[in-house]
Amino acid sequence: MIASDVAAGLRNVNHWIGGQPRASESGRTSVVWNPATGEAQAAVALASAVEVDQAVESARQASPGWRATPLSRRSEILFKVRELVDANRRRIADMITLEHGKTTADALGEVARGLENIEFACGVPHLLKGGYSEQASRGIDVYQIRQPLGVVAAITPFNFPAMVPMWMFANAIACGNTFVLKPSERDPSVSLLLAELLKTAGVPDGVFNVVQGDRIAVERLLEHPAVQAVSFVGSTPVAKFIYETATRKGKRVQALGGAKNHMLVLPDADIAMAADAAVSAAFGSAGERCMSISAVVAVGNSADPLIAAIRERMARIKIGPGMEPGNEMGPLITREHRDRVASYVANAATEGATVAVDGRKDPACGHKGFFLGLSLLDRVEPGMRCYEDEIFGPVLSIVRAASYDEALRIINENPYGNGTAIFTRDGGAARQFQFDVEVGMVGINVPVPVPVAYYSFGGWKASLFGDLHMYGPEGVQFYTRAKVVTSRWPDPDTSKVDLGFPQSR
Ligand code: NAD
Repeated sequence: MIASDVAAGLRNVNHWIGGQPRASESGRTSVVWNPATGEAQAAVALASAVEVDQAVESARQASPGWRATPLSRRSEILFKVRELVDANRRRIADMITLEHGKTTADALGEVARGLENIEFACGVPHLLKGGYSEQASRGIDVYQIRQPLGVVAAITPFNFPAMVPMWMFANAIACGNTFVLKPSERDPSVSLLLAELLKTAGVPDGVFNVVQGDRIAVERLLEHPAVQAVSFVGSTPVAKFIYETATRKGKRVQALGGAKNHMLVLPDADIAMAADAAVSAAFGSAGERCMSISAVVAVGNSADPLIAAIRERMARIKIGPGMEPGNEMGPLITREHRDRVASYVANAATEGATVAVDGRKDPACGHKGFFLGLSLLDRVEPGMRCYEDEIFGPVLSIVRAASYDEALRIINENPYGNGTAIFTRDGGAARQFQFDVEVGMVGINVPVPVPVAYYSFGGWKASLFGDLHMYGPEGVQFYTRAKVVTSRWPDPDTSKVDLGFPQSR
């Protein structure tokens, strides 16, 4: 809740229910900051349980009509969504930058990757084709169809306010479900722009709804009997809570959590290429990506030349407001988060690490917004807080390992398993790493291996709770359930009473 003097005069960010904006009556709001200026720019509604029920009811009512809509019509609407998102790339990106803080180029990249998920979902008639077995027994055919679940809910994080909802709603609605989105309260506006574009494209009212809110809204979605499935992306403690609570209520859940992504550099790697990749993957989006590289594991004598090359590149990164052309790294999402990230740098030396570059001393910290410079920590080891925690900011750690085996053990013993990468010129070593590593998404000389939309996205271990990964083929599986039909046409000559268990031979 915000003090009325801060809220006064701020733009309101409301819900979207039944195909139109809906003002909140909960009396609770939260500030949306402009991270580049440090100023409050909007007040987002925090839904009451009653408002969540209204959104779910709107989705429930739209469900029978939408699931009965022909596949070709759903596909046609998705093609229109695709065209509208494409035509509004810059508008969406500007809205992301204004509330999240990432640079315009980065925000445009987010929209582009989200758009690929909509393009994938345009192929829904093909994606929902089932299997058919003729003559499974005499005169009997068997086939499988996939049907939508009904009302599905999505709870999304601040760091990709457009792309992560697109990961979810594209497949969900293409498969015939109706959808309730609970976006992050820190950058909520883009959800309403997407709702408008979907409506313009012809998505019927009630098929796509947005409830703004916090834990109260989430808890109501998790317990609402009409919600059949929950897709979540966010931090690990919340992912675990969502998974445990919603599965206890009998819902299908995919809950993607936090990460600690390692980049293993072998001594034979191209050091310049590895340094370019480490700096791009660690400091892109100010390190606020679940696929950011946060630890470089340098094997043998690769460490010293690699650190020198990384430092040289770090010094050239331009920090400033994301909207200003030329800036490569923007601010962090909130003041509290910036201070929390800075505290890891402050404590690193006490823990025994070497602070090779201290981002707190960067002149960018003098800006009004939530800026922090780039930090590099050397001689980081498992057990230190700066290693164990997901920092989610512009802090890169170097972990030194004597051998490939030691580096691999460090990565596999880490509780997270979202993304990882190996840098080497040795194909055999890369293949061995792919075989050995206990992580869901692996890059070979590719630092941020986010799968393309026709594969699925998901980590292992504490980075994902649930059985199915997000988007792509597993997304279609998540948002549908299989029904198997065994059929026979009447043939009076072969009909008889038989109490034995049916057999096919
Ligand atoms: P968060 O967990 O704080 O919030 C995510 C969502 O959950 C938001 O909508 C928020 O309102 C809601 N929420 C927060 N606390 C809650 C609570 N106690 N009970 C119920 N709901 C709650 O995450 P964030 O800070 O918005 O996003 C950053 C995190 O997301 C990082 O940990 C990052 O690694 C992770 N992330 C993971 C992936 C992935 O694919 N694995 C992708 C993007 C982000």
